[in-house]
Amino acid sequence: MPRTTPARALTVIGGGCAGLTAAITAAEADVRVTLYEAHHTLGGRARTADGPYRTHEGPHALYNGGPHWTWLKQRGLLGDVAAVPPLEAARLRFHRDGVLRRTPPLALFRLLRHRPERAPVDEDFTTWASRVAGPEAARAAAHYTAVALFHHDPGTLSARFVQERLRRTAALPPEARYPVGGWSAVIDRMAARAWNLGVRVETCARLDAVPTDTPVVVATSLDAARRLLQDDSLVWDSGRTVLVDLAVRARRGDAFAVSGIDFPAWLERFTAQDTSLAPRGESLVQGQVPIAPHEAKSDGAARAENLLDLAFPGWRERTAWRRDAVAHGRTGALDRPGTTWRDRPAIRRGDGVYLAGDMVAAPGVLSEVSFTSAIEATTLALMSGVTLRGRDLGLDRA
Ligand SMILES: Cc1cc2nc3c(=O)[nH]c(=O)nc-3n(C[C@H](O)[C@H](O)[C@H](O)COP(=O)(O)OP(=O)(O)OC[C@H]3O[C@@H](n4cnc5c(N)ncnc54)[C@H](O)[C@@H]3O)c2cc1C
Repeated sequence: MPRTTPARALTVIGGGCAGLTAAITAAEADVRVTLYEAHHTLGGRARTADGPYRTHEGPHALYNGGPHWTWLKQRGLLGDVAAVPPLEAARLRFHRDGVLRRTPPLALFRLLRHRPERAPVDEDFTTWASRVAGPEAARAAAHYTAVALFHHDPGTLSARFVQERLRRTAALPPEARYPVGGWSAVIDRMAARAWNLGVRVETCARLDAVPTDTPVVVATSLDAARRLLQDDSLVWDSGRTVLVDLAVRARRGDAFAVSGIDFPAWLERFTAQDTSLAPRGESLVQGQVPIAPHEAKSDGAARAENLLDLAFPGWRERTAWRRDAVAHGRTGALDRPGTTWRDRPAIRRGDGVYLAGDMVAAPGVLSEVSFTSAIEATTLALMSGVTLRGRDLGLDRA
């Protein structure tokens, strides 16, 4: 029989941004929380590599217009965040017509005036943006948004979805901030907060079934959730992009970042805003070049090298370290025409199971979706008062 008392215990599966947000939210409501993380450390895609090169697989930019900014700040978890120094920001370049330029096509700015709500959900971005600002601006804007979309052809996605990301990533003053020391500094603060609130954290603990004695927030990637819940409906589009991480001997005059306008790509010298990410005298550059389904890693790497040749002259001779990888389905949700975040896999899965992560039905950009869905999933889980699979959830336990 359904129960109406708020839950007193919660299980969280996954210890990335979403899982830690869920655990803290529940523990702040005096709920007993156990968090299971498969890896030996917390953070998921927000982990920062140990030195000497403090790379990220996942997040770099923490957008200060996002809901997670306020949530972290209110709890003193934001810590030091760096902005790009103005002199470095002036070294942002746009790759168009085969050369690096200081500005994108000016028609692109016409598009920026349009609020996302004015862009149709049902139409693709290229069709809508071409009508509003012409085909050159539409193509440039679509490729520019690769910085947050990680898709080889962003113009084919829903106009509203792309326009929201265009406005967020091109906002002035820029929204992007960078946790000093990398995102793991934020993760460490979140973990400490969870610990102080009494959350039981089990690392090296990969669950292969969902516990039935408490409500559960599954805060894994969507792929992992699909396997865990044996639910083939848990699918949504995401990007496929080649990641090139590079440490080069620093050289005055190197670009700060390169935005691909001829083709979608983004390269950024992250030591420009945080020198602690590489040993003194070296620059850490991380780039991503989205690739089409028929393309290989080498295709994306070749395009990245083309940009490196232009933006970091002599980079081959200056390279101290390099790593290439492909991120497939790990860069957040992509909404096709006719869909919005509301159409993604629902947070409420039934039987006391709730889904959080960056591919589920919650608003925001990139990791913001993990934060917002985690708060929503936890709130629903705590208020559900359901009886799981006919078993008592221990809702009345102190
Ligand atoms: C290349 C790249 C660049 C990005 N750039 C940005 C950016 O600039 N800004 C931004 O905001 N976001 C960015 N993102 C997105 C961001 O990384 C993710 O949205 C965010 O880290 C997802 O957090 P999460 O907690 O939802 O999932 P994850 O970080 O994937 O955490 C899930 C956790 O669950 C664990 N797990 C999985 N299965 C199990 C199991 N069965 N039992 C126990 N534990 C399990 C995993 O080990 C993992 O630790 C980027 C992502 C990528 C790949």
